[in-house]
Amino acid sequence: MTHPAQPKASHFINGQYVEDTGGAEIPVIYAATGERIATVHAATPAIVEQALASAKAAQKEWAKMTGTERGRILRRAADIIRDRNHELSVLETYDTGKPLQETLVADATSGADALEYFGGLAASLTGEHIPMGEDWVYTVREPLGVCVGIGAWNYPTQIACWKGAPALACGNAMVFKPSETTPLCALKVAEILVEAGLPAGLYNVIQGMGEVGGALVSDPRVDKVSLTGSVPTGKKVYAAAAADMKHVTMELGGKSPMIVFEDADIDNAVGGAINGNFYSSGQVCSNGTRVFVHKDIKEKFLTRLAERTANAKLGDPMDENVNFGPMVTENQMNIVLGYIEKGKAEGARLVCGGQRADMDGYFIEPTIFADVKDEMVIAREEIFGPVMAVLDFEDEDEVIARANDTEFGLSAGVFTKDLSRAHRVIGALEAGSCFINSYNDAPVEAPFGGVKASGVGRENSKEAIQHYSQVKSVYVRMGDVEAAF
Ligand code: NAD
Repeated sequence: MTHPAQPKASHFINGQYVEDTGGAEIPVIYAATGERIATVHAATPAIVEQALASAKAAQKEWAKMTGTERGRILRRAADIIRDRNHELSVLETYDTGKPLQETLVADATSGADALEYFGGLAASLTGEHIPMGEDWVYTVREPLGVCVGIGAWNYPTQIACWKGAPALACGNAMVFKPSETTPLCALKVAEILVEAGLPAGLYNVIQGMGEVGGALVSDPRVDKVSLTGSVPTGKKVYAAAAADMKHVTMELGGKSPMIVFEDADIDNAVGGAINGNFYSSGQVCSNGTRVFVHKDIKEKFLTRLAERTANAKLGDPMDENVNFGPMVTENQMNIVLGYIEKGKAEGARLVCGGQRADMDGYFIEPTIFADVKDEMVIAREEIFGPVMAVLDFEDEDEVIARANDTEFGLSAGVFTKDLSRAHRVIGALEAGSCFINSYNDAPVEAPFGGVKASGVGRENSKEAIQHYSQVKSVYVRMGDVEAAF
């Protein structure tokens, strides 16, 4: 019998599901059991062509609609997503292995927030009037044209919506390529957008590995590329986009610092460290994986952290009491286990976890290392799994310098009761998305994105509008034109 997660076809183009079995088979494996639950095919050149041609053909008419009309469709899609939250959350769990307890509140709901927010903003996207004496300049906020979205595997519904919603609100068309690891959820987003009234061709989903992404990025019909992925992929995609001067948004990896000062509320700081390392089993780009704890409270912090981490409940992700799921793939599990072995070999103190869980699926126990030193591999490289590195510090200037000593700059957090110190330290940290006495909140109203190697551009908030539109300025002369000859 066909598994309920099996989509009707691999791709969604021009308002309908499309299949081309000529493309390489991509198995979809449920991470909690290792079982194959669905199969899709990578896009062939003919599929890539169909997707881009339909996006190009549909975009101009979409841009001519009023913002109110465009916004209404996006908001209707948000409502449909909320109505079907349970069904979509189950699919997200099949796609990623993340526990239903999480997906019910963090994935389809976050996608719906983006559609609602940008749907609401669509009608307010206007230009300016700039008086120049009796002349004037007016500006027009125009769409970019055809946008390509390329997703990572950790938040397949959210990423599909975070890119699609602002692109469509601004009058663009989108071709979205999900990660080959999690190809299912974006198809549902496309289907729901069409059900909400989106004209055909404006939001197409095609499957494939990096090659398909590469074919999209280098196509001359594409005006903008938004990637969520790793830094090495980001560098390749950015370079390919630069060849034609395409716009880019790059949401890449991180190794973010979370700093806990001696006056912090210990339980809140522990909660922040748990959210910033173990949510989605640590597969979150903005995670605060270098937890700098002031030496005076280090042992107290570690004791409380270990006590609370013992409450992680691993198991069937569809059981809503389970709060900790598997790694997305066997390969990712092995990468993370490799880092854990490096941590042990480099002499970090294992506080808890440190191995594969004794159960089916790709589960790793939530792992905490203490006495981690800045130069250790587990303190320098993005692990993308449930591995927390706790480092000691003594003074503010020292910890700021150490926190900034990384190529990454996605997020940063500070826990302290001292208001001036909180703002001073956050001001000095090189990161795009920061937190004071909290960690990993990502509401659609707030800009999200990194500095340094962690990316360029911002998703969410009004900032995202800048990255999916451009400004035309028009000088209007009322009098005669003066010329030298
Ligand atoms: P990845 O870089 O391996 O792949 C990301 C996407 O890029 C996939 O869809 C892949 O098929 C595609 N791709 C690969 N090579 C390509 C190429 N040459 N041209 C075009 N597309 C190409 O990343 P991943 O393993 O799927 O995801 C994990 C990474 O994503 C981590 O580094 C994580 O930090 C990052 N991430 C960042 C954010 C953020 O918002 N900053 C969010 C989630 C994940």
